[in-house]
Amino acid sequence: MRKEDEFGFEKIVEVYDQKTGMQGVCAIHNTARGLGKGGIRMVPDITTEEVMGLAKAMTWKNAMADIPFGGAKSGIKADSKKMTPEQKEIIVRAFARKIAELVPHQYIAGPDMNMTEKEMAEIADELKNPKATTGKPTEMGGLPHELGSTGYGVVVATKVAIEHLGLEPNSLTASIEGFGNVGTFTMKFLNEIGVKVVAVSDSKGTIYDENGLDYETLMKTKSEKRTVTAHDKGKVLGKKELFGLPVDILVPGARPNVITSENVGNIKAKIVSEAANLPIPYETELVLMKRGVTVIPDFVANAGGVISSWCETEGWDPDKMFKIVEEKIRNNTKTMLEHADKIEKDTRKAALEIAKQRVVDAMVEKEWVKR
Ligand code: NAD
Repeated sequence: MRKEDEFGFEKIVEVYDQKTGMQGVCAIHNTARGLGKGGIRMVPDITTEEVMGLAKAMTWKNAMADIPFGGAKSGIKADSKKMTPEQKEIIVRAFARKIAELVPHQYIAGPDMNMTEKEMAEIADELKNPKATTGKPTEMGGLPHELGSTGYGVVVATKVAIEHLGLEPNSLTASIEGFGNVGTFTMKFLNEIGVKVVAVSDSKGTIYDENGLDYETLMKTKSEKRTVTAHDKGKVLGKKELFGLPVDILVPGARPNVITSENVGNIKAKIVSEAANLPIPYETELVLMKRGVTVIPDFVANAGGVISSWCETEGWDPDKMFKIVEEKIRNNTKTMLEHADKIEKDTRKAALEIAKQRVVDAMVEKEWVKR
């Protein structure tokens, strides 16, 4: 039995398909606020414990996002790099059949590592139900990540922090780690609110121009030359140098654990907006917070994607989705910052307390527990 605490787990289903050899797991942590929602991750070394940890994190993320979803996650144990597209499809469809009883009454799938809109379409097709997954292609009524909801949300959260500190976006500079889906849209929307982006990195290094980088020409460089370091304006620096640059806003938007006790002393930013998942260990976040840096934790800053997923299940169009992402992230970030002001600026603790309270309220309302 895997009961952890008063919140869950509600259901952990481990599956194996003799015909295809597919092995997977779906963990539903808590559905007090709505159906279990969380992506499917396909990696060769996935464990039930890892999926459980991710499902639990989704309960808090969805509650903090203030959308009517509970927390869940799935994992398929397979190495997609060693499979042909046909073999991958067979495994994905086998997994869909095995969890058919849960979907979409208790669990709605979405993309995670090595899963794209293609697999989301295959699962919906296998279960003959478009409501089985989110992140489907637009032709199927989907709102794919390519619309930029996550980067948009990162910028909405950042703008709330700017206002909270009484600063003016036009006078601020930013650097962004990662120039993929999240990083590119974060740059675009930061520019739109008037913030000057002076540095951007990718897996090859950093490009830095203290006068500001131009979004359109940088996009052109990235698409033609595959790296921002090939850009003809600005200085090329190492990947890690991005974090110590003299900027007001720092957006870690690619890899986990990039700011640690090793480099936290170099950080000069006033605001750190965590676009990536787990870019800073909690003890290092605390060091930043004690120094007066406003840290917007990952599950608050990057919730645009999951809010977009909810909009997709409601059948809303991209315009309405962007409005909802803006409204939810603005309110949630503001509530978090106000609460954090009362608890030594610990924004992660503040967000977790708010999220947990929302789940408890839903459990009380459903008469699962007494207050
Ligand atoms: P992506 O694959 O589109 O882009 C990743 C980018 O990071 C690429 O530009 C790559 O070159 C760069 N990169 C890789 N290694 C790097 C390094 N060592 N230093 C600097 N740059 C490096 O991925 P994405 O969808 O933009 O996701 C980025 C992060 O955001 C991940 O942590 C992901 O879990 C998180 N996230 C994404 C979404 C979403 O909707 N896409 C939602 C929530 C969280």
